[in-house]
Amino acid sequence: MKAVRKMDHGIGFVSCVDIPEPQIVRPNDVKIKVEYCGICGTDDHIVNHGLEPPKAPLPVPVTLGHEYSGTVVEVGPEVTGIKVGDRVTTGGLTGFCGRCLLCIGGFIGGCATAKSIGYECDGAMAEYIVHEESYMFKLPDNMSFEAGALIEPAAVACHAVFERAKITPTDVVMVMGAGPIGLLVMQFAKLTGATVGIVDVSAASGKLELAKKLGADFVFENDKMDVTSTVLQMTGGRGVNVTFDCTSNPKCIDQAILMTGFNGQVMLVGTPPADGYKLDRMLISFMKEQTLQNAFAHNVFTWPKAINLIATGRIQVEPLVSHKFKFDDCEEAFSLKDPTKIKILMHP
Ligand SMILES: [Zn+2]
Ligand SMILES: [Zn+2]
Repeated sequence: MKAVRKMDHGIGFVSCVDIPEPQIVRPNDVKIKVEYCGICGTDDHIVNHGLEPPKAPLPVPVTLGHEYSGTVVEVGPEVTGIKVGDRVTTGGLTGFCGRCLLCIGGFIGGCATAKSIGYECDGAMAEYIVHEESYMFKLPDNMSFEAGALIEPAAVACHAVFERAKITPTDVVMVMGAGPIGLLVMQFAKLTGATVGIVDVSAASGKLELAKKLGADFVFENDKMDVTSTVLQMTGGRGVNVTFDCTSNPKCIDQAILMTGFNGQVMLVGTPPADGYKLDRMLISFMKEQTLQNAFAHNVFTWPKAINLIATGRIQVEPLVSHKFKFDDCEEAFSLKDPTKIKILMHP
């Protein structure tokens, strides 16, 4: 079968290669024919910046991808809740023990034996993937395979907004970055009833226009205005209640600190570089007693919320799909420089 793989460490080395189809091994395994698999910021970091997972070196060659949807084509003898023909996605973690306190508590990502598909073991940018039945979710009938492949990034935003931040309807919220995660965080933040603004480098990409269509109350162009002082003026000098950084750019995090008020929350959603970053405004953040909080991935409780909100039309994911590429064209997809790029979906 075709698989998009990272063939070696370092920058680049991505290609579509022919490898054997994965087989059902464990009795609770399910074999899925992949329909779409999105390129995540993480995949981009791995291919274009040589990112290595912190626990162990990238197990090259490794099949990329964890944001996917597909159709079940075969089930193991002990599978009870999933049948051939079901349209599904999975939580992106495999090999978890199911018995430790973190697994029982729903925080599978913390399990000592859990592996993230797509960079700690083979992922879903392939014609087939085999995954255990647990931590698998059926797509509602009205949900497209495209939308199904965007449940994972929606779950990231859902977790950051609903499960990590504390937002009330009278709050003012700012989102740094109008990429896929920023546009999703903005939509989830709107569902809390708060007033929500979003910042991007420039309006030229069309992403801020899309943000407005998706419900943003305010949009700001970082190249055209002093966003920090504009936001401070708008809030009578107090600053906003909560800011989400979806850029992992230290300049944007510093801006977030400056535009967030006393006692406010600065939520760090963007993936930091492995060697960290230096923030110039930490003293100001300290003196404003801000909460700087990480929001990483999701847990078992996040997925049903994200699926429900997409299926009922309250979160829109399909407008985020800007490009589709075949697995064969993966090198072109990973090197695409188009400024209108938001979410790229790969397909066989
Ligand atoms: Zn992702
Ligand atoms: Zn466990």
